[in-house]
Amino acid sequence: MKTPLTAVITGSTSGIGLGIAEAFAEAGYRLVINGFAPPAEAQALVGRLQQEHGVEVLYHPADLGDPDQCVALVKDGERRFGPIDVLVNNAGVQHVAPTEQFPVDQWNNILAVNLSAAFHTIRTALPGMQSRGRGRIINVASAHGLVASIHKSAYVAAKHGIIGLTKVVALENAERGITCNAICPGFVLTPLVQTQIDARAEQSHLSNDEAAVEFLNEKQPTHRFTSIGDIAALALFLCSLAASNITGASLPIDGGWTAQ
Ligand code: NAD
Repeated sequence: MKTPLTAVITGSTSGIGLGIAEAFAEAGYRLVINGFAPPAEAQALVGRLQQEHGVEVLYHPADLGDPDQCVALVKDGERRFGPIDVLVNNAGVQHVAPTEQFPVDQWNNILAVNLSAAFHTIRTALPGMQSRGRGRIINVASAHGLVASIHKSAYVAAKHGIIGLTKVVALENAERGITCNAICPGFVLTPLVQTQIDARAEQSHLSNDEAAVEFLNEKQPTHRFTSIGDIAALALFLCSLAASNITGASLPIDGGWTAQ
């Protein structure tokens, strides 16, 4: 029997990362999942993914703000499953404030989790991928990796940064059977965005639905949230043979946001 492929997906206890984990499990990948969750919840998620998809799943509690834990995530995954075939850097956090009022600890955390963590997981996973002459690295960036919005200095800096990192890793590994690409979603209705909608609803005395509509209308010409399933399908496509010559790309899935 063919050995299943292994995917490490950061920030996969919630939102987009969880959707990507579900899609890869459905496609038969063994998974290393990660993210904040109470131990019982994390174990329940492992149990559910294993049962529903018949694949092996390891939950790793690494805090990706810490470089050593980023390294441990990949190394422990390799110890459990052997070679890592796919690395998805998805974990991300947000904080919104004008630049001159931006809390320094929030800046440091956003840069650490949204940008530096990907450097640390990539540098740990690459030697194994290079020795086997194959690998897929997918960085979940954002429309904010391509354009800016006010009050998101750290997030926009980190997401522009990860697109730069994506290009360098792609170039350095172009002849080694390894691709590295960035997915750039527009607004997706996950806890990360719901927090911002809640803040707007409160500030502007709007209902949740009205605040969500306002939020979308400002940026996304289709007036629709991007679905988690569509992002997961794009991630899976990037791991297919048909995508073997797509590398160094930043692929918007943003309802036309960055076409404006
Ligand atoms: P989410 O809040 O639902 O999930 C974030 C995940 O990251 C969770 O599993 C969380 O536990 C994990 N995480 C956060 N800090 C961590 C840390 N220090 N160590 C380990 N795990 C940590 O968010 P989401 O909306 O699903 O976002 C996922 C990615 O997609 C992020 O990189 C985000 O920037 C990006 N993104 C989101 C949107 C959107 O509209 N939701 C749009 C564009 C890009």
